[in-house]
Formats: sequence, C-alpha cells, structure tokens
Amino acid sequence: MNDINNKKMGNKIIQKLKDSELTGRGGGCFNTAEKWSMVKQAKAEKKYVICNASEGEPGVKKDWHILTHHAGRVIDGMKIAMDFLRAKEGIIYLNPDYYFKLKDRLTGIINEAPIKIFHKPHRAGYCGGEETSALNTIEGKRSEPRLRPPYPPTHGLYGQPTLVNNVETLYAVSLIARDEYKKKRFYTLNGDIINNGVYEFPESWTMETVLKETDNWPDFDFFVQAGGDASGEILNQSQLKQTVPGTASITVYSIIKYDPITLIKGWIDFFASESCGKCTPCREGTYRLREILNDKEPDWKMFGSILNTLNDTAFCGLGCVVPNAVRSYVKNVLSIHSYNKINLPAEARKQICECFK
Ligand code: SF4
Repeated sequence: MNDINNKKMGNKIIQKLKDSELTGRGGGCFNTAEKWSMVKQAKAEKKYVICNASEGEPGVKKDWHILTHHAGRVIDGMKIAMDFLRAKEGIIYLNPDYYFKLKDRLTGIINEAPIKIFHKPHRAGYCGGEETSALNTIEGKRSEPRLRPPYPPTHGLYGQPTLVNNVETLYAVSLIARDEYKKKRFYTLNGDIINNGVYEFPESWTMETVLKETDNWPDFDFFVQAGGDASGEILNQSQLKQTVPGTASITVYSIIKYDPITLIKGWIDFFASESCGKCTPCREGTYRLREILNDKEPDWKMFGSILNTLNDTAFCGLGCVVPNAVRSYVKNVLSIHSYNKINLPAEARKQICECFK
C-alpha cells in the first residue's frame, strides 16, 4: 500500500469517490460519495465511522474473505473516512464468529488508531446487521431497526452523524484513494458447483460469465439464488446475462435435487428465526407462514396473501424481502419447468403458481 498522508488528501477523496461511482457493497447499493457528503455536511461536535462487518446472510462470505486477506485495506478505508469527516472514533462491528477469529489480528493492524472493535452479540442475529439496528446494539439497546428518517448520516450513534459502511466498501475506498481501484468486486460462489469460494472480478461481469470463468457452469439443469441465500432472487439459466445483485453471491441449485417444499421451508424458517419481533407483520407473519408449511395440506392462498402483506407492511428491509426467494422461485423455476423434473404433486404446484400470478 502506498504510504500517503490521509489528511493531505482532504476533499480530493470525495471527488475520487464520485468519479468511481462506488455504491455500498453491503446490499443497499447507496451511492458512497453521497453518503459521505451527508455526514460531512451534518453539524456536530462528534462524528462516528462504523465498519459493518456483521455479515449474517447465509451464502455470503466475502467480508470474511476480505477481513482475512485484506484487513489492512479495510482499516485504511476507515482511517481515510475518519480523517475526511473529522470523526474522532471508529468502530468495527464484527459478527460473533468473526470477532473470535479476527480480534487479535485486527487489534494489531489498528495499533494506536482510535478504532474500537465491537463484538456483536449472538442475540443480534441477522437483523442486527441492518445499520440502525447495529447502532442500537452498539448503544446497548434492543437489536432492532429504528424508524427512519432521520437517517444515520445526520442522527446515528448516540444521535450524532455517523457513517456506516460495509467492509467491502471501505476496502474499495482504500483502493480508490490510492488510485488502484479497477471497478472490481467480490463474488461468493456456493452450492452445486466444483469450485466454491470467494473471487474478485470486474463488477460488470454477468452471472453467466462469473460461473463460466470459474469453471462452475453446470452440465445439468439448474437455477441460482443471487445476492444471498435467504433474501436473494431465484433465477433460471436463461436469466443469467445480468450483473450480480446485492451482496454478489451466487448459489447454484440442481433442479432435480431439491423438492420445492423443503426449499420454501428453509427460506421461511430462516426469516421466522431471525425476525427481531418489533413489528406484527413480520413477527406474526413469518410464524404463520411456517405453521402453514407444516400443515398436511397447506393453504397456499393464505400463504401467498401473508407473503404479499409482509412485503407491503413490514417495518424494515428484512420483513420486506421475505417473499423474494419464494416468489421468484415460483415464477422463474416452478412455473416453467416440466413436471418430471420437480418433485411436487400437480395440484399443489397448480395452487402455488396461482398464488403468485
Ligand atoms: S420486519 Fe419488523 S420484526 Fe422483522 S426484522 Fe424488521 S422490524 Fe423486526
């Protein structure tokens, strides 16, 4: 890494961020320069910079990979942000598993810098990764999202302007500041493939290209889940000529290997266990969805109706994304593949497809 003085970089960094068109790599995809400018413009005695390393979505491992191989870059990105914003304190918000494995190494890299490592408790779960939920957790409050607006750039940690950026975003900031950024991003590849792992490729690559370049393009009928194994959208083979959304994970599923009910149960179970319980649509809705799936003859009409309601009324993004996988699986896989490839009675299949027309 070039040894440059971050303070001398001054406002140049914001122009470099604008030119790079970097967007948040935690899934939100908000323009990074815009977020930094909002924190910069907010008037306050104290400002904070938080590196969100809570990575809790199944199937996504890129932050772990970056912290394992490029932690210096991430800390460098934090320092650049802190200097630009004149923030006196930085916090790395680490999920419990990463905390125990990386704490000593990160402490060594941080050295004398005013950056603390926060151990995200187990109880904070997947929902504790949402940025306002992270702020509550750090403040010792219940790990649940806050009502927005106001937003963290103006009213964040302890009510002060706070920049919350994901691990990969801060890694990219370090590269951008030093003119080494090549518009690449990290991809987590999982599932029924040979070469599982995390790869770094141009962000313009399509899913098809990523799978082919890593020798992971299957020779059987398959579909993928893109952008996380819980909230990610399901796409069929013909839909992969597009860039990878959200957190850039691709999980490959063999069509004949998985029966639809098991898949749907897996997605719903995850959200039911991870709901923070703050709002009724998600707390009760995911519970009822799980209950319906455990019935001998599931009421698919009710199932579809609860999913749609969740999407429209949940308090935060976690509740809103519950329908993503089920809905797209029905639309892009279940309703187009022939009966003999998918293990589901014809009547149940007809009813499920009806619900999501
Ligand atoms: S949708 Fe509601 S219950 Fe679910 S995680 Fe968000 S705030 Fe909590």
